[in-house]
Formats: sequence, C-alpha cells, structure tokens
Amino acid sequence: MDMKNAIAKLKEVDDKSHAITHASALIQWDAATRAPKNSVEGRARTLSTLTGEYYMTLVNDEFNKILSYLEENKKELDYITTRKVEEYRIEYDKIAKIPVNVVKEYSEAQAKASAAWEEAKNKRDFSIFAPHLEKVIDYNKKFISYRGYTKHPYNTLLGDYERGLTTEDLDEFFSELKNTIVPLVNRINKSNVKINTEFTKKHYPSKEQDKLSKQLLHIIGFNMDSGLIAESEHPFTTNFNRNDVRITTHYFENDLLPALYSTLHEGGHAIYEQNIDEELEFTQLCGGTSMGIHESQSRFFENIVGRSYPFIEYIFPIIQKAFPENLQDVTSEDLYLAANKSELSLIRIDADELTYSLHIMIRYEIEKLLFENKILVEDLPEIWNQKYKEYMGLTPKNDAEGILQDVHWSEGLFGYFPSYALGNAYASQFKNTMEKSINIDEDLRNGNLENIRKWLYENVHKYGKLLTPKEIIKKATNEPLNAKYYTAYLEEKYSKIYDL
Ligand SMILES: [Zn+2]
Repeated sequence: MDMKNAIAKLKEVDDKSHAITHASALIQWDAATRAPKNSVEGRARTLSTLTGEYYMTLVNDEFNKILSYLEENKKELDYITTRKVEEYRIEYDKIAKIPVNVVKEYSEAQAKASAAWEEAKNKRDFSIFAPHLEKVIDYNKKFISYRGYTKHPYNTLLGDYERGLTTEDLDEFFSELKNTIVPLVNRINKSNVKINTEFTKKHYPSKEQDKLSKQLLHIIGFNMDSGLIAESEHPFTTNFNRNDVRITTHYFENDLLPALYSTLHEGGHAIYEQNIDEELEFTQLCGGTSMGIHESQSRFFENIVGRSYPFIEYIFPIIQKAFPENLQDVTSEDLYLAANKSELSLIRIDADELTYSLHIMIRYEIEKLLFENKILVEDLPEIWNQKYKEYMGLTPKNDAEGILQDVHWSEGLFGYFPSYALGNAYASQFKNTMEKSINIDEDLRNGNLENIRKWLYENVHKYGKLLTPKEIIKKATNEPLNAKYYTAYLEEKYSKIYDL
C-alpha cells in the first residue's frame, strides 16, 4: 500500500457512505412528510438494505488496513485527513463490533417501532408500543455489551451524541440546573405578574403561518436556495449536503406560537449545516460536531434571539401584518410576555425556556434506570407519571401526553435527550462571549443578524466535525462548558419578567 492509494480509497469510502446516508435520509424525509400509510413495510426493507450497505462499506478488512496505514503514517497527513481518519476509526470501532445481521435486524425493528409508536400515540395506548420499545431497548443493551463501556453502561450511548460525556458529568450538570430552576419556578408561582396568552390562541390559518415562517427564516439568514420548509407531525431538520438542508414545522391553527418557535429552532439547526466549510463537503467531517452543539445553534435562534425583547420588537409588526384582526390590540410587549410565559407543564415540546430542562431531567433519570436494568418497560407509564408528579406537580391524563409524547425512543435514540439541556448551556455561554464584541440587542432590534451569524460561523459553523465539542467551546469562549452562564441567564431574564 502507498499513501496515494490509501487517500484515494478514503475518498471512495467518503463518496459511497455519503451517498448511502443521502438516500436513507431522503427516504426518511419522505416518510415524515408525504409517504402513504402503507409504505412502512417497503421502507423498512429498503432502509435495512441500505444500513447493511453502509456497514459493509465501512466494516471490511481492506478499509481497516487503510485506516491502520494512515494512522501509522499520521505525520504525512494534513489536518483534515487526520481528523477524517480519527472519525472513521471511531465509527469503525462503533459498528464493527456489532455483527451485520444484528445491525440489519435492528434497522427493521426501528422502522416498525416508529410505526407502532405513531399508532399507539394516536390511540393513546402504550401497550401497542411496549413490545416494540422493549425490542429496541434490548438491541441497545446488546450494542453496549458488544461495544463495552467505562463506568456506566449508559455512557456508551451518551458518548454517541456528545463525545466523552458521562453520567457523572450529567448528574452534576443537572443538579446545578435543578438548584437554580426549582427555586425560580417556586418564586414565579408566587409572583403577582399574570401573563395573558389569549390572543395567541385565536384562529391562525396554516397558509398565513406558512408565509410567516418563510419570512422568519429569511430574517435569520436561512438560505432558501439551499433548503426548504415542509410540514410534518414532529418538526425536525435533515441535511443531505450544505446545499440541501430541509426543515419541517407543524402548524396549529388554534395557536400562533408553536410553529413560529419551531421554525426558528429548526432554522438554527439548518443555518449551522448550510454554513459548514465547503472543504469538508461530502466527507465524514461534514455535519454538526455533536448533538449538544447542534442544539446550541437551534436554541440560540429559538430562545436567545427569538424570545428576546429586541427581536420580538422587530418581528412584531411583521406578525401583526400577517394577522391584523387577531393582533390589532396587541403590543410587542404582550407578545414578548406570551412567548416567555413560564408554567409547569406535561409536554416537553411546548415547554417554556425555564422549565424545559426539568422535562429533560425526567427523561435522563428514566433512561439511566433503564440501562441500569432497574426498571421494566411495562412499568414505564407509571414511573413517568410519578416523576411528572414529583417535578411538575402534574399527572398526564393519558399515555399520549405522558410516556408516548416523544418520538426519540421509537427511533432508538437513547442518550440523546441530555443534548437539549447541554445545548441551552452552550448557547448561553456563546452569547456571553459574543456580547463582548457585538451589541446583540441593538442588532436584533434592527433585525440585523449578520454580525451574530458571522460570529457563529467563525466560531462554530465552519468547523463541522473538524473540531470536537470540547474544542469548539474552549476555542470560542476560552473555557470548558460551564452551566453558570445558563443559570445566570435564566435568573436575570425571569426575575425581570416576573418582577421577582
Ligand atoms: Zn433541535
């Protein structure tokens, strides 16, 4: 083997794995936006075959030898190739330990679990989903046993979304959040400030909301020539390459706010993907560096930008123009308060910025128990309801607004939820540093997001996976992730709103 051959082979694997991922993602996009009900079985087969192809592309003796050769000759590689080899090695080690037939079986089980979850949610009946969920969890436990773990079995899964993240880190992180959020929520409960949200619950036709969503995307800098927005049950972002990044939202005609904020949220994810350096395109390094950093970008646009007073001041006349009758007696201040009303609630995706992390803590605690083999799938609804009673003082009326509300477990995404809370913390830390060189409020008041986007591009977006999450946060803010910026941000914001 020589260097020239090894590099050529690496490019071949880049091209092929990228093509397979592109095809799978497009099929999944289609499933979520347009595909007919009876398409499940056929799609499950195709996705299972593609998953097998992906596996075979990466896991074979030849590629293993090429990676080893490149690792041995590291000194001759440029930085991008070095990082590419590292990422491929991690991916290789992750999947090579699992037999291909198990990977394919799992892909099929996942597709079926997703369909069962949807049915169960519609019928509000966990028992329809339970046997499928049990299978998906068993597969994940099997994967952990194949792959091994350090200290806690759940760490293996956590690391897939945030490299190196452990239950120890998260126990500490969440206890810090809890120490700020729980007392703050109690003070808000006693506050005399009552926020009116009635005007947000009038009739808001989907068609107008769709137009407004596109205007908002334009304002925050989403490139419509390299992306599009569609509707799905659950909002999400998918990216095939930097020139084809797609997002979805869900319009509720009796509520103005959900689509507005999910559009800003997914828009934040999409802007990240659209701005990864061109040099990394179609390689293993193209894509956000971790789920936590990805969520920091979505939350930045959703919350730090979208729920700030200056930005709402800027967009309010635009929203008012779209719905003149509904909003004729409303002010930007009213909209600001409505968008920031804090309330203990049952549904994660509707949660406000303050109580959001409590929803995540509940899921984290349950997942940890599952992978410690301390609880059974059949007991999940009861455990869920107990935790909601404990943290929120509320009990779901049925499984749909309880244990069945999230899509994640049906897709086998265990260890993913904590990224949401980490994303909030990263975002606040980015904001803290950004403020030193940019007058964020002033820019937002003028609807000018160029400086903000440029900062995010220079410090986060352009790197793709070239830098790890730890490297990104350190380089951008001069210190590792620190929850105090997030807790300080929450304290300040909510003390003002609720006059505490
Ligand atoms: Zn997100």
